[in-house]
Amino acid sequence: MARYRESVCRFCRRETTKLYLKGDRCYSDKCSVERRNYPPGQHGQGRPKTTDYGVQLREKQKVRRIYGVLEKQFRNCIHLAERKKGVTGENLLLLLESRLDNIVYRMGFAASRSEARQLINHGHFLVNGRKVDIASFRTKPGMVVELKEKSRSNPFIEESLKTAIRRGLPAWLEVDADNFKGVVKAMPTREELPSNIREQLIVEFYSR
Ligand code: SF4
Repeated sequence: MARYRESVCRFCRRETTKLYLKGDRCYSDKCSVERRNYPPGQHGQGRPKTTDYGVQLREKQKVRRIYGVLEKQFRNCIHLAERKKGVTGENLLLLLESRLDNIVYRMGFAASRSEARQLINHGHFLVNGRKVDIASFRTKPGMVVELKEKSRSNPFIEESLKTAIRRGLPAWLEVDADNFKGVVKAMPTREELPSNIREQLIVEFYSR
């Protein structure tokens, strides 16, 4: 699978907002957006041209980068969201939120979604008691996500869990930190999802 290997802080600087791609560093004063809040590159500090297309494109790129999804997968998500009942933009966000890598990150087992993806790919997680090593696996309400017995001594996971609990976990997930497991109680409502995402712009981008 294609992977981006450069600094992901460039993504945040490009979108001129924090996308929280690097775990603890994002909450410290080492964050690149805190220090240089303008797009990277030679013309980063120039006057930006804004068109409707440009605004839609930036919103799409922002969300794609937050969830760490490649363009093809993201387009598939949009097509799936269109086929579902309800509001396409909200359906898209729910599809992204239900990905196993996002759930592992939201439950606090990993400091970032990319770290969650790596842990999943290495087979550290069980879903309803069965090993799942596919980061894009779609979870459903009632599913139990659990760290394998053998992986529970990993100090990084323990630390991530403590930090996440300190910051507060989403109400739609239930986490039992002592037993390294969590349950997806329900899918989140729009109010429980990030308010800085304008999903309608993404739908407009793909319906051009
Ligand atoms: Fe983005 Fe985190 Fe890097 Fe800050 S530290 S620029 S929020 S990835």
